[in-house]
Amino acid sequence: MILISSCLVGENVRYDGGTQGKSPLIQLIKEGNAIHACPELLGGLTVPRAPAEIIGGDGFDVLDGNAKVMTNTGKDVTASFIKGAEQTLKILKEKSIDTVILKANSPSCGNAQIYDGTFSGKKKQGLGVTSALLNRHGIKVMSEADYLSS
Ligand code: SF4
Repeated sequence: MILISSCLVGENVRYDGGTQGKSPLIQLIKEGNAIHACPELLGGLTVPRAPAEIIGGDGFDVLDGNAKVMTNTGKDVTASFIKGAEQTLKILKEKSIDTVILKANSPSCGNAQIYDGTFSGKKKQGLGVTSALLNRHGIKVMSEADYLSS
């Protein structure tokens, strides 16, 4: 079984109410070979919501209490991001998930790069909060590009 970011399978869960659905991934859901989850909604955030970025580090630093997730309006949403990561890990443990495909560059889901905390569109190396927690539990996260090019 595969777990995919909800926004990659056509769900309108992005901060702005949009989606970034990819047909091959939507097909995996239709065929019953995948389920989807959105860590930020699992953490209690809603749609739409203010965009958020990790300030002062990456997802590992957030988990360690050394960085925060802040919205562009200055609200600290760190606790929601950590809760969403924990809820996603719980789903993985409950289901027989062997492949995880999460949206690139997101402060939750990014598996290689994240936005740099300046809300300017610039990226830096690092994992989002959910990808970092899964990494710490030995679970490999692929981005949509990783999966579609494999
Ligand atoms: Fe939700 Fe992750 Fe998609 Fe953001 S990137 S909308 S947290 S599934």
